[in-house]
Amino acid sequence: QAKEAGRDAVRFYDPQIQSRVQARASLERDLRHALERGQFELHYQAQVQGGRITGAEALLRWHHPVQGYVAPTRFIALAEQTGLIVGIGDWVLRSACAQLALWAGDPLLAPLTLAVNISPRQFSQSDFAAQVLAALAGSGANARRLELELTEGLLLQDVEDTIAKMMQLKAYGLDFSLDDFGTGYSSLSYLKRLPLDQLKIDQSFVRDVLLDPNDAAIARTIVALGHSLGLRVIAEGVETVAQRDFLRQHGCEAWQGYLFSKPVPLAQFEALVRAGAPLP
Ligand code: C2E
Ligand code: MG
Ligand code: MG
Ligand code: MG
Repeated sequence: QAKEAGRDAVRFYDPQIQSRVQARASLERDLRHALERGQFELHYQAQVQGGRITGAEALLRWHHPVQGYVAPTRFIALAEQTGLIVGIGDWVLRSACAQLALWAGDPLLAPLTLAVNISPRQFSQSDFAAQVLAALAGSGANARRLELELTEGLLLQDVEDTIAKMMQLKAYGLDFSLDDFGTGYSSLSYLKRLPLDQLKIDQSFVRDVLLDPNDAAIARTIVALGHSLGLRVIAEGVETVAQRDFLRQHGCEAWQGYLFSKPVPLAQFEALVRAGAPLP
């Protein structure tokens, strides 16, 4: 009996698992309060076409009081699992729309588009479209400047419902991109039915596009597929001129990546646009 208990005890008090479970639980507890405590901020990463910044992607940043900056890769999945993403995502949408409305008053910033990441769980809310429209109406932002980035995880949901929500929002003029394209569950038969405007080539294919013939083949295929379907194609994670040139040779025309700018705080992004300095 003692032996049994001992074995259980060993399993239970494995210090590594224990501390991982505790870390997760405490991160979750803190995440629950992050919104009301004003710990979130948006950073902006330039999207570039024809040597000019045409817009930005809004990327969420969490300033944890003790841990400092916590990367989205550490908390977005947790927010998705706990459902906290719904409130957080709504905050992102409203903040992005408020920013678009401010840009509209400045001739240099007014033409910019702003892309917002939408998690599958957020999109699946029955009032998702109403939330987006409320964010637009509440801020006075022009829907034509707003882009929503969806991921392939969405295709696991009811496709008819997904199409209906997208159509409802597209009627107001906003655009949809499919983020991280090629890494998820896309079935091409679903893809052709979705009213998308743009594919984003995932950075995992861009990274080794010059070294790995398979990545090169996939990246080229995504550009060709997107264009055949009448979609714009943007490459993300572009870090070198050589990567940009290779993708350009194969028809890609829009870019996002450290080569142009990292995601930066608002003031820095606006300064970058205002400087109008030539981009690589
Ligand atoms: P994503 O939407 O695919 O965003 C692009 C990610 O790639 C960002 O990471 C960005 O910082 C990074 N990146 C951009 N250019 C480069 C590059 O040249 N090299 C490298 N190595 N990385 C680059 P970040 O900001 O850490 O965000 C990670 C993911 O978290 C995002 O991937 C997105 O899926 C999610 N996320 C971020 N903000 C939000 C949000 O507001 N809502 C939701 N639902 N998800 C978000
Ligand atoms: Mg994105
Ligand atoms: Mg992406
Ligand atoms: Mg990603």
